[in-house]
Amino acid sequence: MATIDDIKYDDKGLVPAVLIDCDTRQVLMVAWMNAESLSITLNTGLATFWSRSRQELWTKGMTSGNFMHVVSITADCDCDTLLVEVHPDGPACHKGTVSCFTDPIEMPSCDDAAFDEARTVKLADILEDATGQFDLHMHTTVSDGEASPEEMVDEAIRLGLVAIGITDHSFTDFDTEYCMAENAAAAYQAELRRLASIYKDRITILCGMEQDMFSEPAPSGFDYLIGSAHYVEVPVEYAQASGGHVSRDGKHCYVSVDETEDLFVRAAYACFDGDYLAFAEAYYETVSDVIKRTGADIIGHVDLFSKYNEGNRYFDENDPRYVRAWQKACDTLLATGAAFEINQHGRSSGWRSVPYPAPAIYEYLRERGARFITTSDAHSASELASVWGESLE
Ligand SMILES: [Zn+2]
Ligand SMILES: [Zn+2]
Ligand SMILES: [Zn+2]
Repeated sequence: MATIDDIKYDDKGLVPAVLIDCDTRQVLMVAWMNAESLSITLNTGLATFWSRSRQELWTKGMTSGNFMHVVSITADCDCDTLLVEVHPDGPACHKGTVSCFTDPIEMPSCDDAAFDEARTVKLADILEDATGQFDLHMHTTVSDGEASPEEMVDEAIRLGLVAIGITDHSFTDFDTEYCMAENAAAAYQAELRRLASIYKDRITILCGMEQDMFSEPAPSGFDYLIGSAHYVEVPVEYAQASGGHVSRDGKHCYVSVDETEDLFVRAAYACFDGDYLAFAEAYYETVSDVIKRTGADIIGHVDLFSKYNEGNRYFDENDPRYVRAWQKACDTLLATGAAFEINQHGRSSGWRSVPYPAPAIYEYLRERGARFITTSDAHSASELASVWGESLE
């Protein structure tokens, strides 16, 4: 707890005080206090300031009658700004509005010219880069990654990558733990544009998103999208038994195929009577729609369903039912012309000994002319290094 002696005043003996309404939490006004006005405020309970223009003490409300009754005062982390919670008797602003903050300043949108310079290299150019030293799938603290976007950029530069795309998870209203926050896309884009501009001489940074197929359509402003199926929709009656996620409107239930192994098994029993191949068929039927639903440029981990199946633990990956299921999905997806990723996350996270897609699926796709890009799907800087450092060199 800070005392009055801890307050750090500026060279004019002043400290800014931010007033908020203790009920609505609305910011009402900002004014300056000196030691004397702070002590008057503490003793009278009425917000009192130092006027820089009139060079005198003033108690808010003395002329207007709109006194600000102080409930608490909190210093910020370095004790040079005060947050004053008040009960206002009336509007804080001399113009008669509740708050003095009424004039929004226009924000540059991500499509504005200011950012264009950083966007000169597009997805198509990168895909044509013969060196292949690029990685277009990784996560940061914006969703379920461990490193900040800037830390991932630093690591990518250290590893000698020429281009990266950061692709945090799109918001899903039914499962908010792992994805970006609702309405966070604009701030996320702005941060990646800022980094793209700062680092433009050292690495190309694209702003992507891993768009789950059950998310709302992605907002504009992304360089590209990875379309991914992480869930299978099941009847909402199965929510309890399966541990599935129910949508905000209560109408849909989704079971994840990669959340935890326990939940994977539980969903197989609760929704498919323990028939993992039926679960697989539902998954591949889902994933076959991923480009149609998301409009994405890249198909994410097409056989994510096999995550927990190393050594055919739950089902035989050579079973004709399984093969038919993925072949059908691949045929539909090949027709879209989207690129398939060769995703290393199953390996780097220790669940699989092979990338997504597994060799049989990769061969099937390759023979039919699929375009591939190798991605780490890294969720930490060390995972980026494990894929692009030692192992693939
Ligand atoms: Zn993730
Ligand atoms: Zn994914
Ligand atoms: Zn991912």
